[in-house]
Formats: sequence, structure tokens, C-alpha cells
Amino acid sequence: MRHVDTLRFATLRDEWMTNLDNRPSVDTGALALRLKREITGDVWFDAFNRGRYATDASFYQIMPAGVVVPRSMDEALRTLAIARDDGRSVTPRGGGTSQCGQTVNDGIVVDFSKHLNRLLSLDAANATCVVEPGIVLDDLNRQLKPHGLWFPVDISTASRATIGGMAGNNSCGGRSLRYGTMRDNTLSIDAALADGQLLHFGQVLGNVSRDEAASGDHGAKLFRDMLALGEREANEINDRFPKVQRRVGGYNLDALTPRNAPNNMAHLLVGSEGTLAFTTKVELKLWPVIRNKVLGVCHFGDFYQAMDATQHLVKLKPIAVELVDRTMIALGRDIAMFEPVISAAVRGDPDAILVVEFAEEDQNENLRRLKQLGELMADLGFGWDQPKAKWGGVIEIADPALQAGIADFRAAGLNVMMSMKQDGKPVSFVEDCAVPLPHLADYTERLNRIFAKHGTSGTMYAHAAEGCLHVRPVLNLKLEKDVRAMRAIAEETFAMVREYKGSHSGEHGDGIVRSEFHEAMFGAEIVAAFKEVKRRFDPDGVLNPGKIVDPPKMDDRTLFRYAPGYRAAELKTRLDWSAYSGASGGFQGAIEMCNNNGACRKLEGGVMCPSYRVTRDEEHVTRGRANTLRLAISGQLGPDALTADETIDALKLCVSCKACRHECPTGVDMAKMKIEVLAARAEKHGLSLRDRLISYLPRYAALASRFSSVANWRNNSAVLRKLFERLCGISARRTLPEWRRDVFDPEFETVGPADGSEVVLFADTFNRNFERENLDAALHVLVKGGYRVHLPKPVGAGRPLCCGRTFLSVGLVDQAHAELDRLVATFAPFAARGVPIVGLEPSCLLTLRDELLSLRSDDDARRISAHALLFEEFLVREAESGRLQLPLQPIAKEALVHGHCHQKSFGAFDAVTQVLRLIPDLAVETVQSSCCGMAGAFGYGSDTYDVSMQMAEASLLPAVRQADADTLVVADGTSCRHQIKDGAGREVLHVARVLAMSLDRGV
Ligand SMILES: Cc1cc2nc3c(=O)[nH]c(=O)nc-3n(C[C@H](O)[C@H](O)[C@H](O)COP(=O)(O)OP(=O)(O)OC[C@H]3O[C@@H](n4cnc5c(N)ncnc54)[C@H](O)[C@@H]3O)c2cc1C
Ligand code: SF4
Ligand code: SF4
Repeated sequence: MRHVDTLRFATLRDEWMTNLDNRPSVDTGALALRLKREITGDVWFDAFNRGRYATDASFYQIMPAGVVVPRSMDEALRTLAIARDDGRSVTPRGGGTSQCGQTVNDGIVVDFSKHLNRLLSLDAANATCVVEPGIVLDDLNRQLKPHGLWFPVDISTASRATIGGMAGNNSCGGRSLRYGTMRDNTLSIDAALADGQLLHFGQVLGNVSRDEAASGDHGAKLFRDMLALGEREANEINDRFPKVQRRVGGYNLDALTPRNAPNNMAHLLVGSEGTLAFTTKVELKLWPVIRNKVLGVCHFGDFYQAMDATQHLVKLKPIAVELVDRTMIALGRDIAMFEPVISAAVRGDPDAILVVEFAEEDQNENLRRLKQLGELMADLGFGWDQPKAKWGGVIEIADPALQAGIADFRAAGLNVMMSMKQDGKPVSFVEDCAVPLPHLADYTERLNRIFAKHGTSGTMYAHAAEGCLHVRPVLNLKLEKDVRAMRAIAEETFAMVREYKGSHSGEHGDGIVRSEFHEAMFGAEIVAAFKEVKRRFDPDGVLNPGKIVDPPKMDDRTLFRYAPGYRAAELKTRLDWSAYSGASGGFQGAIEMCNNNGACRKLEGGVMCPSYRVTRDEEHVTRGRANTLRLAISGQLGPDALTADETIDALKLCVSCKACRHECPTGVDMAKMKIEVLAARAEKHGLSLRDRLISYLPRYAALASRFSSVANWRNNSAVLRKLFERLCGISARRTLPEWRRDVFDPEFETVGPADGSEVVLFADTFNRNFERENLDAALHVLVKGGYRVHLPKPVGAGRPLCCGRTFLSVGLVDQAHAELDRLVATFAPFAARGVPIVGLEPSCLLTLRDELLSLRSDDDARRISAHALLFEEFLVREAESGRLQLPLQPIAKEALVHGHCHQKSFGAFDAVTQVLRLIPDLAVETVQSSCCGMAGAFGYGSDTYDVSMQMAEASLLPAVRQADADTLVVADGTSCRHQIKDGAGREVLHVARVLAMSLDRGV
């Protein structure tokens, strides 16, 4: 077998350059064949899939030789054996959210997250469970909740981080003061060594294993050797391991030292970053869920004073003390949804706040501690009437809603910080150093001086109680000078941390960023012991080499995502990307906004990313798509990769829901990028028949409605359905919307009282042709409300107005432009007079708020965009201002509402429920749904029908089926209504019709 060692890294630069023209650097053909023969899960050796696994949330990029997504643990172990036989290294992977480069390597990457993610057993009485390593933390906690239990290592990436990855990195949550780190909550681990041998890592007694070791039991021998190493190095470990709770660097040799209790061998594996063994099962310690808590928001007029006070505040035994600094508070104040939270929780203009959380079972005890907190602050000399340095005090927060608001605010503040659009970005490399609390104030002050010396700065936030602050200086790692600054900052910071006897890695681990500094932090003897451990477990360096021991240099630019030579092609773009930097008018910068943090891999809550929730494939998540585009525009996937089939495949299941634009922490707007890529593809390869049929619908709609009975033949004939499927890829299992002759085509251009407030009603193609009842109802409601409604005929006559969405959906940007030009010419005079432009179909109306401005930046377009409102948004605005008087009457007891993705993405969904609540006695419930799965034409495709239905079945259709027959099912999207009707057989109403019914009931 070939020895796999760090020399490999020396060849990586060459490999990277080779990747640029997509030639495999080493022959992997035989290995690929064997894996494909023996593994039923996915086995990928193509450049696109390898590229999607070449990055994690660090700034590194290493192309793996191949990727395997095993279906069973047996297959995972088989992959290990096959790769080992072939002389390849193997890197296990969970969510790939590591910040230090732990999860990237050049061998075979094994993805545990897709199939190996079960809760295997739960012992609720003893509060323990056993899980497979690929289970996501939030998913586990959802399953534990009914038992009153949770796994409390509540890391920020809980929505996508896996237990295997958390154990790999010894992750720590915000409440580690009470619950400790991953190591403290891991009872045992079952794992395979590099040679395939399966061992149980749990408690062992220091003196028992001697006989077993002699008996030839490999596990006992290994444990015995490890304990001997611990005994031998006990003094050095005691001297050199920092005495802070947040120490996750290096191997946990301190777990091996002699003690009056059993040693837990699993604790050596925790934090070993996939370098010692392949975890197959983890036994976890569980805790009762938190039922009661209170927050004390401590204010400080001076940042240094806040840091200095922390050591005193922790004496009251809170479960968390989280720092939010001046910059984050300012960012939060600028976000409309958080402004009220900050107004309620933050007084005056503090330099920093410390959010102190008490969470004892007894709420009276929490309130007592909150009172003590106020007294302590006073004892420390802080008061609202004190001058700046000692200005401060406590705002008490017992209201759970406000507590949740503060938690959300902290997360959003970080998101805004990470969403800088310039090339310089906050970079993680000293972002989790931990120092003892008495030094925290001096540490932060000196850290700011180091940043300033190197021409940068960084915002500080997070875990003050543990002395572990997240701080990321802003640097542009495409520039050599900034890379040099990064190295200098790292060296100076780590030297300072060492001086304070702190830890250079207090949360995120070692990876490539920090491993080379182990010798400086722990000393040569400890590093030699780390190597001994690695050799004993994995003598041939098969498992994730180059991490923790024998690392490359952290500033080796050949290992960077933006390596020397990285360059993006100049492309002809159609949309406006000028908010971003880089090639193609900023298209490059927009793509590079993805920092791989993996938030798009969440499985519940919000909408992003509906396709991933069904397939669980990296290819079908926003991150995978953004990485594909980045590699394509920078030539790393071969020539013309942007328009290649593989790129189109990666975008195929993107339903253009726009959720990522809103929910991705850095605002990656994949729906907009998809338009750009499809435009390039259409120009190069033309359009399919299906795309033509879909996109040109607004142009042939008039003809089709005139001959509606012929146009509807296809729906009523099984033969025609099959033929359609074969000819143009529209699923035979779908009904198409029914054409009708009585389309919405009013004679009049204005209706309603002459002195009424003016409003334009935009009749979109879908409601006009297929569901005119919605437009009739909207008109009825508006006129009844006393509005003067304009239905302007297109300037220059011709076909009805259209927003161009169907053209955008297939990349026909010029045609969409032409449609929008007609619409702008028609609506501009109204917008200039300040008349609201109201529409019913979310995707059409919101095109005016979104894509219109990517195509036109003139005053007319801007004014129309600013005045475009969804029907319900308009009514809510009018109701709030007291102008809306509708004699609404009770119609039903309950309404169940599904929100269109674009409504949610634009924060417009609440208006639907608000307007429905104007109806007397109507209880309004929303379905916690992601995308309905129909998404324009997506659900009609024969190749996407199944995924479409799976998206709908995730939560929407079951919720609708459960609703009783009298419940009104409400959805504003044409596609959503169609999907619900197809999938659950229920009639669904646009909100305009519900309001009209309620008005008519009063007649
Ligand atoms: C925005 C952001 C916020 C974060 N916040 C926190 C935080 O609050 N606290 C914190 O501790 N971390 C945090 N992290 C870091 C990261 O999310 C955590 O370390 C997380 O636990 C990694 O989980 P994962 O599933 O993504 O693991 P991966 O990144 O996939 O893997 C992590 C390590 O575990 C190894 N591994 C994975 N599976 C196995 C297996 N089956 N057997 C053996 N080894 C395995 C991998 O090889 C790798 O070395 C954050 C990261 C980001 C991007
Ligand atoms: S697309 Fe957004 S959410 Fe997904 S990994 Fe990239 S930055 Fe994170
Ligand atoms: S637009 Fe929707 S489907 Fe497409 S990547 Fe973004 S979240 Fe996923």
C-alpha cells in the first residue's frame, strides 16, 4: 500500500492547476470502477461533484480524488477499505461546516449526512441515546423534544451540523458554561480504525487492560498504549494544556492521564477531526429541556469595562454570557424587524452589552439571580447616572418573545456583518481564541491594536463567559499582502494567547488554519505525543492526513479557494450585478458571496432550500450550486462549463423560490444567477420545446383562449397526455391549467368613485386567462372599499401587459425586457403620480420589485418598483392608516393559509394573515411549509414531477388533508393552488376571493 503523507500537499498546487483544465491528475479509473461496482450509494469522480466537496466553511479548497455517499455503514467501511487498498486517504464528512479546513482533502471524501443519520436508540429514563454520525443536531433535538430531553451542545450551525462532525471538532455551544463541550457529553463512540477494525471507545480502567492487552485483543492493546502515553506525559500535559474550558486544539491527551476514575477513550476521538478513526455510532448524554429562563442585558459605556466585568458576572452562575458590541447593535438598529427588539432591550448608546442568561428549573430562582445581577453591577460601580467608563446597568427581560427576538437579533447581526459585498471579507483564523477571564479585557484591547497595526479591524461578539470571542478581521485573501497580514496577525495573536495561558482554538478546531501552531502552543514534546497517537491509530496516514499533525502552512496559498492564478472569465451578462465586485460586471462577486456556511442545508423552518430538503444532495443545495458556478466561471471545470449540462443539472431542481436571497446569511441570490446562466445556455444551445411552450405563453394566450376547447384536449385525453410527455417533457400525470373563452378583459379602463383614492390593478397573465374570478373579486373589494381602480390598456395597444416572468424562467432575458418595457410605459404615469400598482400573483407582481430593477435602472422603473404592492399588502397599509372601511362579515371558522415562496422571500406573507384577520370570527392558521413544489412550470416537467410532489408532501399536502372540510384553504400563488388541488383534491382560494365572499355575505 502506498504511504499517504503530507508530501501530498506539495503536489497540490500542480493538481489545482490541472483542475483548471479538468484533466484528472492521477488515474482514478480503476478505483472509481471498483467503488461503483461495490457501493450502491453515489460514487462520483467527475470534476463537478468533486468540486462541490472541495470546500468547507474555511477559505481553503482541495479537490478530492472522488466522493462517496454510502447508503449504509457497511458501505462506508467498504469505501474505507477500498480507498486504503488503492493508497488513497479518506476524509469523513458531515455538513462540511468546519471553519478551519478540517473537511477538505485530496483523497476520497465520504459523506455521512445523506443516509447515515438515524437516532438508533433512546433511553429516556437514563437520558442517553445512540445515533449515527450523520444525524443533524436540530433533527436529533426535534426527535428528543417529546421526551422532555435535548442534546445541549447548541452550536450556531445546529440546523446542519452533524453529530459526527461535532464530535470530530469537539464543538461547543453558547451554553457550554453549564453543559460543557461535545467531549463532556459524549459517553462512548463506536469507530473503525484505518485498517477497518471496529472498536468500542468508552470507559476503561487504567489497570484492567494489562491482561487483555497481553491476550492479543487489539483494542485493549491500543487503549493500554494510549493510557501508558498519558501516564508518561502526565506532567507535560498538566504544564502545557491551557486551563480554560474552551480548549479544543490538538488531541485530547488530557483524557489519557491517570485518575481515580475510569478513562473514557471516546474523549480521545472527540476533537480528532477524522484523523484517528471513522465514527460509526455515538452515545450521547442528554439533558432536560430548558423550561424557564430570564435574561439580564448588562450595559456598558466602555468596551474594556464590559470585558473586565465578565469575570465577576459569571460568579452568579448564568448559563451564558454573550457579548454584542457597538457595531453589531448599530447593524441591528438598521434592520426594521430588529429595531423594536433593540429599542426594548438596549438603553442609550452602550459601547457593548453582555446578555446574561439564567435558566434554572425554578423561575423564582431565575428572578432572584436577575436581581442579584443588578446589585452586582451596582457593586462594580456601574450606574445609569455614572460617567462614560462606568455608565451602565441592567435591563431585565422575562418575556419569552423578547428573549427570542434578542437571540434572532444576534444571529442577524452576524449575517449582516458577513454580507459585505466587497472583496475584503471577515476571515476566520483567530476567531475562537479563548483566554482566562481575568485577561479578557487586556486581550481584546491588545487584539484591536494588532489589527490596527496591520491596517484592518474586526467586530467582536459571542461567548464572553468562556473568554472565547469571535472576531474576524476584514481581509482580501486574493491579495498576497492581505495573506501576509493574516499570517502576521495569527502569529502575534497566538503569541499573546500563549502569554495569557489561553487556547488558540476555543471552539472551531485545528484543521489547516491552526495545526501548524501546535508546537508553539503546546511545545515539542506534546506535538511528538500527538504524532505518536496518530501513528498508533493510523500508521499509513489514511485518515484525513495533514490535520492536527504534519500540517501544511496555514498561509500556503496553493490550498486556498482563491489560489494564485484564480481568475474569473469576463462574460456577457444580462442582469445588473453592479452591487458586487469582480468580473462580468460583478456577477463573479455575487457568486463568491457564498462562504459555504451551509445554512441552506437546514431541514426545517423557513423555505431555503426546498430541493435539498427532498434530495439531500450537495448538488441540489444553494451552496452546491454556488460552488458549481464559482468553479465554472474560474475555469476549474473545463471550458464552457457555465453552460455545460452538468451546470444546468445542478440548477435544474432550483425552483427559483428566492428563499436563499432572504434566508442565506450572505444573501446569495441563486434565482437571479439561474436566470443569467439560463440566458447564456439559451444563447448557446437554444431552447427546448417545453421551454418555448412555457415562456411564450403570454404571447399565444389570446389565441389559445379563443380556441380553448381544442387547447384543452390534451387534459382530457390519456393518449395526448402521453404524446405531450414524449414530445415536450410535460408530465402525463399533470393536468394543465384549463383555457377559457371568458378571460378577464374589461371594457372600461377605470372603475369606482370619481373621488376615490386611485389604485392600478395589474391583471397578470395567469389570473387573466385561467382564474378571472380572482381579478373580479379584487376589483369588487377595491371598489367596495371606495377606491378608483385603473385597469390601463397597454400603451400602443396590442396584447395584454405581462411582467416577463415566463421568459425569465427560461433565460429569455431580452423578451422579458421587451414585456417590461411595455409595462413600464403603461404604468409610469400612474407611478409618477404616486398611484399604487397592485397585483394578485406574487411571482408576477414581485418581478416589478425585483428583476425589473436588474433590467432597468431609470426613474420610471424605480418608481414603479417602489409603488408595486401585492393586493393584501395594499389593503393592510390602507387598514393601518385608517383609510380602509370594508363591511366584512363572518364566513367560516377557520382559514388555513399557505404562503407563496416569493411572498415569504419579500417579507410580504404576514400581510395575507393580517388581512384575513379583518374578517370577523375567522381563525387564521398558516402551514409551516417550504415551497409547494409546483414553482411555475417546475412541477409540470416529467423529469421533475416526482421531486415536485415530494416537496409538496413534506408538510403542505398533509396539513391540507388534515384540515376539516369547512376550513377555507387559502393560497395566493396560481401554482400553489394547482399543486394543492392536484395533490389533496381541495379547492383553494386567493385571498381576494375570501374577502369578496365576506363582503357579499353582508349584502
Ligand atoms: C457560521 C458558523 C457558525 C459556527 N458556529 C459554531 C459554534 O457555535 N460552535 C462550534 O463549536 N462550532 C461552530 N462552527 C463550526 C462547525 O459548524 C462545527 O464544528 C460543526 O460541528 C461541524 O459539523 P459538520 O457536520 O459540518 O462537520 P464537518 O465539517 O463535516 O466535519 C467536521 C470534522 O469531523 C470529521 N468527521 C465528520 N464525520 C465523521 C465521522 N463519521 N467519523 C470521523 N470523523 C468525522 C470531519 O472529517 C472533520 O474533520 C460554526 C461554523 C460556521 C460556518
Ligand atoms: S448559499 Fe448561503 S447559506 Fe448556503 S452555504 Fe452559501 S452562504 Fe451559506
Ligand atoms: S432559489 Fe430556492 S430552490 Fe433555488 S437555490 Fe435558492 S432556495 Fe434553493
